[in-house]
Amino acid sequence: MQYISTRNKEYGHTAAQAIAQGLARDGGLLTPAYLPRLPKNALNDLCKMSYQQRAVYVMNLFLEDFSASELAAFSAKAYGPDKFDTPAVAPVHTLEDGLHCLELWHGPTCAFKDMALQMLPHLLTASLKKTQESKTVCILVATSGDTGKGALEGFKDVENTRILVFYPKDGVSAIQELQMNTQEGGNVGVCSVYGNFDDAQTGVKKLFSDEELREELANRGYFLSSANSINWGRVLPQIVYYISAYCDMVRDEKLEMGDLLNICVPTGNFGNILAAYYAKEMGVPIGKLICASNSNNVLTDFLTTGVYDRNRTFYNTMSPSMDILISSNLERLLFAVTQSDEEVRGYMEQLAASGRYQVSDKVAGRISSLFAAGCCDDANTQRVIGEVYDKYDYLIDPHTAVAFDVLARYRKETGDETAALVVSTASPFKFCDNVLGALGHKEIASGLGVLDQLSEATGLNAPKPLASLKDKTIRFDQSVTKEKMVDMVLGMLD
Ligand SMILES: *Cc1c(COP(=O)(O)O)cnc(C)c1O
Repeated sequence: MQYISTRNKEYGHTAAQAIAQGLARDGGLLTPAYLPRLPKNALNDLCKMSYQQRAVYVMNLFLEDFSASELAAFSAKAYGPDKFDTPAVAPVHTLEDGLHCLELWHGPTCAFKDMALQMLPHLLTASLKKTQESKTVCILVATSGDTGKGALEGFKDVENTRILVFYPKDGVSAIQELQMNTQEGGNVGVCSVYGNFDDAQTGVKKLFSDEELREELANRGYFLSSANSINWGRVLPQIVYYISAYCDMVRDEKLEMGDLLNICVPTGNFGNILAAYYAKEMGVPIGKLICASNSNNVLTDFLTTGVYDRNRTFYNTMSPSMDILISSNLERLLFAVTQSDEEVRGYMEQLAASGRYQVSDKVAGRISSLFAAGCCDDANTQRVIGEVYDKYDYLIDPHTAVAFDVLARYRKETGDETAALVVSTASPFKFCDNVLGALGHKEIASGLGVLDQLSEATGLNAPKPLASLKDKTIRFDQSVTKEKMVDMVLGMLD
């Protein structure tokens, strides 16, 4: 299968080239030239398999230049019992008949980024070998929290890789900071940047375009790469859990094979819900794709009106991983729906120039037949955490609560009571303060004390990777200005 740019479909790339390269040279996203259909009976066969085997089966449909045995080795490493705290890897929890929750936070960092970032390093290192890149790859990440820790855990001690994460000194939670500063592994580095997320991100972008740095690193045997969510190696592993969830539900008699399932996803960069769309197009009986946003509701407006307009106020919310005004992976949906690189290029040029574009009526109509959308502010997020806990004795994090609220409103407005799967993207223990607040606690413990407080309040144990933070040694405590980031990189890659 060939991979092409969403802005120019003329040049084909192999899967290994697409993953090694990350982004197309023209700024577009490298995307499969067509979506494979699941063969007849494939879903029945997949029902009998483990999560690891399902991952091999699905990825094999897209990665012609990888052998099944290669993928099996990656899958065993990425989704083994030393990484995920349940053999199901991504279990479906049922709240009541027709209402289910897909838990994507059983990995080493307790957020859904693990589902892809545990696999990406294996795909990337193999892709570099296949494309005969002999230098060591150095992954640079600017993070507002979840991605940095996910990437550190994924790349930790993976041969021929280094990883360096920059986070804003004033922009991550105490738990997120500890998670990163205690990171283990011989090939990792973590450093905070004075300022906010924008400062860290601008700094990393500057490193990528610093020709002098590139040359110096090449002399030392390194080259720079990124692990962000537009790499095909991050989208592909996400398709697997939608197919897997459907199979688990059939196997456990929550659905009959062929029954439709609506899916509601708390969305930021549009990577997660895009994978659900691909699963649907491959033949999984998925009904509506419901896109849930927080107060940063640029996608709600786009999916319902066809106008994308980033010129609006940016809100810091209690679901920070969805605080995004430019959802990069939306470009892949536009390409799938228009099948026109020229049309996508036009929209993206308008977005770059004015922050706004409007798709044609035909495209808008197609999109609104596939997707529903809604948004939920912080007050409603807290209310829903409390309600779901009271009604179902089930604790959810703020991102997941946004999706529950949007699904409830969708059902009320449309009367569509099709069985629904809400995607849960983080452990509630990652956001103890706001979850405790939602449960009515007025005084919140400081530092890691919040973990015990939430445990005591709910009788649940904090996930091991978070509970064990208190026994970990701080390995990284350096802070730099934006201007000094280049010295950090050179210091680490000697
Ligand atoms: C990254 C993230 C999201 C948003 O996912 P996208 O693929 O960017 O849409 C939602 N919730 C959590 C907890 C996340 O870490």
